[in-house]
Amino acid sequence: MTTRKMLLIDTSLCTGCKACSVACKAWNELPAEKTQLVTGYQSQKGTTPNTWTYVSFHEKYENGKMHWLMLKLQCLHCAEPSCMKACSSKAIYQTESGYTLIDHEKCIGCGYCVTNCPWGIPQVDKAKNKAYKCTGCIDRVENGLLPACAHTCQTGAVQFGEHDAMMEKAEARLAEVKKTYPKANLYGDQLMGGTTYIYLLTDEAEAYGLPANPSMPISLSLWKDIIHPVGGIAVGAVAAAVGLGVLANAARGNYRRRVADNAEAGSHVDSYGGE
Ligand code: SF4
Ligand code: SF4
Ligand code: SF4
Repeated sequence: MTTRKMLLIDTSLCTGCKACSVACKAWNELPAEKTQLVTGYQSQKGTTPNTWTYVSFHEKYENGKMHWLMLKLQCLHCAEPSCMKACSSKAIYQTESGYTLIDHEKCIGCGYCVTNCPWGIPQVDKAKNKAYKCTGCIDRVENGLLPACAHTCQTGAVQFGEHDAMMEKAEARLAEVKKTYPKANLYGDQLMGGTTYIYLLTDEAEAYGLPANPSMPISLSLWKDIIHPVGGIAVGAVAAAVGLGVLANAARGNYRRRVADNAEAGSHVDSYGGE
């Protein structure tokens, strides 16, 4: 029987080297893309159909000094994923190991997963009309290998293991990090049903450009759980419900602050990157 897995991303150990992003591209044979400095050393605005994990840099000023908050971001593989609920073609599914994956045979590139993900993670390739995101390296994990990012990270900032053991490790590490960073917290284990990728942050989520309380858009639940099962509503109303979800999400500050248009990266849906 497959057991639930977990990746712990310990930002207190991250040096912003971006090796995780390169390893992800190498293993998944994702082509290189034109990059530009967004701010500081950040060279990607967000995820794209061909960049499934990237590192954002955030400047934090305290007592007249600046230090970096660095964040490797990818799909968090939520236990209750709003992308899956929003998917119009039932192309998104979950594995026993805790991953949320896209079946590209079924994906029609509608983009509802993008607009309903609190982190704006999946991105649609316009040419292929398919959405793409981190697979959790399921092909490696099912063959006893570490996810490529965890395998590559040299500082121990990305760790992989069984869910319960990793949660224990995360709690122990949090207690340690709090001695230096009193605002340190775990991000993800209490969100969206509990995410498979959890973060140890040294500061509040907002300082990393993350939504503090991401949640399933109310309009999406309303449509999928109440209105749609009753039936008799025009299909076009789905778009309206999902659109409302986006507005509701934005109003609650779910989305990370948008940096700039991501059009050149080949996505037809806006992405949300770091500051
Ligand atoms: S490889 Fe590790 S240290 Fe380097 S940016 Fe990624 S998470 Fe941070
Ligand atoms: S982070 Fe977004 S894309 Fe990933 S499983 Fe959660 S809702 Fe879906
Ligand atoms: S788990 Fe694999 S696909 Fe996901 S970010 Fe890491 S290297 Fe990329």
